[in-house]
Amino acid sequence: MTQFALLPPRHQLVEILTRIYEQGLTTTSGGNLSIHDEDGNLWITPASIDKGALVPEDIVCIHPDGTVEGRHRPSSEYPFHRMIYAARPDLRALVHAHPPALVSFSIVRKLPDTRINPQSRDICGEVGYAPYALPGSEALGEQIAAAFASGPKAVLLENHGIVTGGVDLLDAFQRFETLEYCAQINIRAAAFGDYHNLNDDQIALFHKNPGGELPEFSSSARSSRERELRLEICRFVHRAYERRLMISTGGTVSARVNDNTFLITPYGADRKYLESDDIVLIQNGQREAGKIPSRAIRMHQHIYAEHPHINCIMTAQPPHATTYSIVKRHFDTRLIPESYILLREMPLTPYGLQFQQPERISALLTRDTPVILLQNDSVLATGDTILQAFDRMEVAEFSAQALLQTLNLGELVPITDEEIDNLKRKFAL
Ligand SMILES: [Zn+2]
Repeated sequence: MTQFALLPPRHQLVEILTRIYEQGLTTTSGGNLSIHDEDGNLWITPASIDKGALVPEDIVCIHPDGTVEGRHRPSSEYPFHRMIYAARPDLRALVHAHPPALVSFSIVRKLPDTRINPQSRDICGEVGYAPYALPGSEALGEQIAAAFASGPKAVLLENHGIVTGGVDLLDAFQRFETLEYCAQINIRAAAFGDYHNLNDDQIALFHKNPGGELPEFSSSARSSRERELRLEICRFVHRAYERRLMISTGGTVSARVNDNTFLITPYGADRKYLESDDIVLIQNGQREAGKIPSRAIRMHQHIYAEHPHINCIMTAQPPHATTYSIVKRHFDTRLIPESYILLREMPLTPYGLQFQQPERISALLTRDTPVILLQNDSVLATGDTILQAFDRMEVAEFSAQALLQTLNLGELVPITDEEIDNLKRKFAL
């Protein structure tokens, strides 16, 4: 996190554009990013350069007096960047691209529903809308700047794509990635017709952050086990990000160090840049000084206190499995033996329990129920090890993807009760 903030603008732009390209959220020709720095310089990606092979020297800088520095021309969309910054001095960076799910919304001329989970709503807010205009034209810039002028931090461009803004480039990128993720879930949920979304009171529950209320303690020397677990948590969070089980703004991992001590990922850090020292040690109900744990901390505390066999907890929002947390359709885990063996029955709990009554979620977890779906939130997977919890998360996502793909193919024929009993005997479930 801090490492990224220290990078100069041209390096930040290359890092984030490469990240967007590698995640399949832009083509080589579409999309452009900019930063408006404290001296009034506008740093922007160049026109017609391969997004898969961009280097910092390719970035163009436009000074406040209009002089252009760089070996390329600035992006042809430069006019709208300039006009948005003029309309919104609070925005210091912009991300524009044509990611597939948001383009789907832009071509049917609808806005994605960000109330599907509290994180998406919190990060994306209300999305603005700009009518179609010719790319690169002053008219397009005026339409987009006018949409931003009323306050949103993201504007959908009709028959074109999306622009997100932020207080810095990471903030703008996280909003972009989260909104595209939200659009993907909207599209999957639409296949079922009706789905649950959240009202303001429900979203407000998420804004309480009990992690910051825990008393602090100064940690002494770190044991070998603690240091190993810190590294392992980081490795699995990075892997979950690369496997699209997490996005930059969502997902928590914790692991037990001993009876009354566990490690948990911090509140708010970008999952791709998570480092060992960012992880928060929780000991006897106190947090490591100077660090804020995930806001799911109370739920993790209950689970570790009440279930000695659980050594790791992972919550994440993989896009297919999370769709089942909002649609009114049961996630039937009896599709293939692997699904049932790892996930078992996988109950759905009502929204808000993780904030208001975390002990009720803990009470549901038994040896027969290692995975729970939290309504309008996430998948919660537990395990004896981090690998086991990760495995369950991956199987939940693959199973949900397979199930969603049957919608236009035919009805699921689940494994019979008799065969389920045979699985239980053979695998000692
Ligand atoms: Zn464009």
